This record gives sequence, C-alpha cells and structure tokens, in this order.
Amino acid sequence: MASAASNASCIFCKIIKGEIPSFKLIETSLSYSFLDIQPTAEAHVLVIPKHHGAKLHNIPDEYLADILPVVKKLTKVLKLDTNNTPDGEGYNVLQNNGRIAHQLVDHVHFHLIPKRNESTGLGVEWPAQETDFEALGKLHKQLQEELSKL
Ligand code: AMP
Ligand code: ZN
Repeated sequence: MASAASNASCIFCKIIKGEIPSFKLIETSLSYSFLDIQPTAEAHVLVIPKHHGAKLHNIPDEYLADILPVVKKLTKVLKLDTNNTPDGEGYNVLQNNGRIAHQLVDHVHFHLIPKRNESTGLGVEWPAQETDFEALGKLHKQLQEELSKL
C-alpha cells in the first residue's frame, strides 16, 4: 500500500487528523466522509481519500477504490437508495479538478449531492455539440494510440 501523504496547510488533511472539526459520517482506513458546511442541498456530503493530492490522478488506486463503496453506503444513510425508477429524487456524484473545473479545495474530494428538486443540489450546464462521426473517429484513433503506450 502507498504511504499516506499529508499536507500541513491543507484544510481537508487537518479534518482527517481531527485538527479542525467536521461533521464526520463514514470513516475507513483509506477514506473519510463528512457534511459539506456550505451545502447546495440538505445532506450534501464530501468523501475524501486519506492521502493528500490535489487532483484525481495524484491519488493512488487503492484510495480511489475505497471511495465509491463509501459513497454507495452513504446513499443508503441518506435514503437516496430507495428510488429505483428514473423519475423523482436522485443524486449527483461530483469530483472537480482545477479552478476552471470549479475546484476550490486542493485535496481530492467527491461530492454526494442529493437532487430532490430543481432548486437545490447540482445545476449542470451541458454544452453538447452535434454528433460528428468523422471527428470522433479521428479522435478515437489518436486515443487508441495513447492507450497502446500505457
Ligand atoms: P470544490 O468546489 O469541489 O473544491 O468543493 C469544495 C467544497 O468543500 C465546498 O462545497 C465547500 O463548501 C466545502 N468545504 C470547504 N471547507 C469545508 C469544511 N471545513 N468542512 C466541510 N466542507 C468544507
Ligand atoms: Zn490534504
């Protein structure tokens, strides 16, 4: 297992260490979850790896693998797991990387945001373009080349 990195000036590292308070929910050996103090909806929750890193690609796989099962458990705790139809209440899982992508705290965090109505929770701008199979085909070829180098 990769050793846990910590950053003394990081607010989320301080929360993990208990140096500043949080409304803790589930904690595992690799993850920590707590209520967001400026929620966009009631019971807006954050799940963080116990490993300091600003962006997703900075976090070792074992920490990332621990997080989604925690998010799933939290859907149960928040009673977001009862609606198995596409309509009615739902939720978003959001993970921002970089200022341009709306990241404010530079320690990776996954938001679990209940979407109970139109006015609370996540609002999404989705600038979808027309489907262009030629452009997609070119891009796909480039990406396959990159994939073959992994
Ligand atoms: P992001 O824009 O994805 O970086 O989101 C950062 C989130 O962290 C925001 O929703 C903040 O409300 C939340 N946040 C910042 N400081 C704290 C804190 N001390 N305790 C809980 N949530 C926090
Ligand atoms: Zn940190």
